[in-house]
Amino acid sequence: MNAPVFNNSYTALPPRMFAQVDPAGSPDPQLIALNEALAARLGLDAAWLRGPEGLAMLSGNALPDGAASIAQAYAGHQFGHLSPQLGDGRALMIGEVVAPDGARFDLQLKGAGRTPFSRQGDGKSWLGPVLREYLDSEFMAAAGVPTTRALAAVETGERVQRETALPGAVMTRVAASHIRVGTFEFFGVRGDVEALRALTDHVMARHYPEAQSVLGLLEQVVAAQARLVAQWMALGFIHGVMNTDNMAISGETIDYGPAAFMDGYHPDTVFSSIDRHGRYAWAEQPHVAVWNLAQFASCLIPLMGADQDKAIEEATRAVHGFPELYQAAWKDRFTAKLGLGPTDGAVTLVNRLLDLMAAERADFTRVFAGLADGSARDEFMARDTFDDWARDWQAAGPDAARMARANPRRIPRNHRIEQAIQAAVGGDYAPFQRLDAALRAPFEDRAEWDDLAAPPLAEERVTRTFCG
Ligand code: AMP
Ligand code: MG
Ligand code: MG
Repeated sequence: MNAPVFNNSYTALPPRMFAQVDPAGSPDPQLIALNEALAARLGLDAAWLRGPEGLAMLSGNALPDGAASIAQAYAGHQFGHLSPQLGDGRALMIGEVVAPDGARFDLQLKGAGRTPFSRQGDGKSWLGPVLREYLDSEFMAAAGVPTTRALAAVETGERVQRETALPGAVMTRVAASHIRVGTFEFFGVRGDVEALRALTDHVMARHYPEAQSVLGLLEQVVAAQARLVAQWMALGFIHGVMNTDNMAISGETIDYGPAAFMDGYHPDTVFSSIDRHGRYAWAEQPHVAVWNLAQFASCLIPLMGADQDKAIEEATRAVHGFPELYQAAWKDRFTAKLGLGPTDGAVTLVNRLLDLMAAERADFTRVFAGLADGSARDEFMARDTFDDWARDWQAAGPDAARMARANPRRIPRNHRIEQAIQAAVGGDYAPFQRLDAALRAPFEDRAEWDDLAAPPLAEERVTRTFCG
């Protein structure tokens, strides 16, 4: 049995970019989930992770030799307002591992205690957000969407005070890195060009080795975000808190706090209880991405050469490249959902269908998944209108295999996540485990999981999510 071999690179950056902190530790840790498939992908020994030393690491009680344990500094625009000092307030990066294929990943303990960036917070997490992030992020990975992942979840044996006292938990999050737009902003707002340069070099070497220049880096991050947001849209995913500190430079989905997937389709859908004006509604996400990328670009401009007017012009052009890249990715994703190629005719069919769906709040996942066997029709009240659309769609010659790969049968429906959390709080992990298994094979049609594919009954509906 082997402990992880850490190979840390972030700690070689200037010390003002992070703070050294020990995890708080857990009084009575219990392993509640271990992601063996991910452990294998990372080259980690699942038997060691399950053993006493593994549990000690995953609960923050004792880290193996070579671990780092740092809180990363970052800033961020939250709902459009600058917070110059955020940082890892309840997360600790315990080190980087290099997978057998050479890919580098951060391991982070989320909910491991207070740090210099915690402000009024307790640095802890309760079980609910841990299970939600575990299920959501692993579904995203299974659906082929770039995302942080969940290696393990541990109950700490401690109660965490929220509105009531709730079971505490720690999740081990895995990411290509946890570097965010907000990491750049932390140094950008301080005019710390030396740190910006070190961070930029680090990010280029780590994530975008093909980029030939800072402008090239910006262009690649813009392209990665355009592809990512198009993938979110095609799954009915609503991130919920697209602040700049929650946008990863790697192009991975990060921070599932109030994230949710739509049941009934409407472009204005919002779940997050704190998003009162719908800034981060489903249809707003591509616009917010551009806004966030403009903040990123502002941080890079001082590094883009002595001619700053030219730098501003080039950076602006790179950010303005988003809509075209996004449209192409959107077109590819949504026409695939109809089993068609990315033609203008297919886009018209997509938009006609989305309009029909929005008018009735038809179930996003079921309509697309039901096109193949005709059951999509049952999702509509206006059957004649749907039949007119379906005739035109059939005439376009949809390809069943293309459709099957683009349309999941199951998504992490909010009510199912809530039910799994409620059961787990009561000590029953069976619903969580069953949901986890079903979401790892989202494109497989399996009768035993039909209940998990179904939309909520009126009394099951969960319309609000919380940051946790
Ligand atoms: P989020 O809304 O999850 O993106 O978090 C925004 C900021 O609040 C980050 O700096 C977090 O580290 C911090 N934060 C959130 N919850 C807590 C907590 N319970 N304790 C300490 N810091 C927290
Ligand atoms: Mg966050
Ligand atoms: Mg969060």
